[in-house]
Amino acid sequence: MNLKQLHKDFGTQKKCVAYLEKIRWGKNPVCANCESSNVTKRKDGMRWHCNSCRKDYSVIMGTIFEGTRLPLPQFFQAMFIMNNAKMGISASEISRAVGIKYNTAWYVCHRVRCAMINNELRLEGVVEFDEAYMGGKARNRKKPINEANLARITSTRGRGTSKIPVVGAVEKKGKVYVKIIEKLTSRNLLAMLKKVVKTNETIVITDDFRSYKAFDDEVEHITIKHSEGYGKGMRTINTIEGFWSIIKNGIKGSFRSVSKKYLPFYLAEFSYKYNNRHLQKDAFLQLLKNAVVEEKHFNNYKPIGNPRDIVYNQ
Ligand SMILES: [Zn+2]
Repeated sequence: MNLKQLHKDFGTQKKCVAYLEKIRWGKNPVCANCESSNVTKRKDGMRWHCNSCRKDYSVIMGTIFEGTRLPLPQFFQAMFIMNNAKMGISASEISRAVGIKYNTAWYVCHRVRCAMINNELRLEGVVEFDEAYMGGKARNRKKPINEANLARITSTRGRGTSKIPVVGAVEKKGKVYVKIIEKLTSRNLLAMLKKVVKTNETIVITDDFRSYKAFDDEVEHITIKHSEGYGKGMRTINTIEGFWSIIKNGIKGSFRSVSKKYLPFYLAEFSYKYNNRHLQKDAFLQLLKNAVVEEKHFNNYKPIGNPRDIVYNQ
C-alpha cells in the first residue's frame, strides 16, 4: 500500500465503510448491538437497521472509529502515516500532514494505538526478560532546579528510580510483549511469565536481578551475571536491550516525553510495530482488521484507569 493506492481504495467515505463492512462481517452482516442477523441496510448505504432490537447502527460502532466526526478517508490517512512511522510520529505532525486540528489528531492517534494492542500474544522458544525505566520529565520539570530536586533528577536511573518500570519479554528473532509493572516483585514477574510465556516450551534468559530467581521453579531459566561480563551467542539479553533502545529513542524523538497515564498506549504502538516489522505489503490492511475487532482489546486492556475513558473523554 502506498499513498496513491490509499487514495484510490479509500478516497471516499463510502469506500471506507464498504471495506470495513467487508472485513468486519464478510457476507453476513449482523447487528452491532445484539448480533442479530435480521438486519436491513438503510437507503444512504452507510447505516443499518436491526429488525430485532430496532436500533440503527453503522459498521464503526464498537470499533476505534466509533463516534468520530472525522471523515474516514482522513482517519485512514492518519492511520496510514502512523503505521509507516517506524519510530513514531507526533500528533502535531499528523495534524499538519492530514490537515486536521491538533486535538483531533491527538485523539485519532490514541485510538489507532488501541488497534495496536495485542493481549493474546504467547511467547515461546528462547525468551529474554528485562526491565527498563521510562517516562517522567526529569530534565523538563516546571519546578526550578534546586539542590534537593537536582539530586533526585540525577539519581533517576536504574532500579529504584521514580520513573515507571516496564518489563519486556522478547523471543530471540521473534515477538515482544511489554507491560508496566509498578512493583518488580517475584510475584508480579511470575504472573507476567505465566501469562505471556508458554512455560513448558521455553527457555527464559534474564540478568541476575533477584526477583527473577522465582522463575527457576516455573521454567528453564538461564541467569546472566553482568558482573562476570556479558554472555555470548544465545546467552545474552541483547534482543530486549535492542528493543528498549528503539522505544526510548522513539519516545524521545517523536513524543519528547510520555506520561504514566498514556505510556501503555505508546508501549502498544512500539510493540505492534516491532512485532509486525516483517509485514510489508499488507501492514496497513492488517491494522484496519485490528481496528474493527478492537472492542475486545478495550475490555481486556486496563492500563491505568479505564482506557475507554482515557481515549474517549479527551
Ligand atoms: Zn439488534
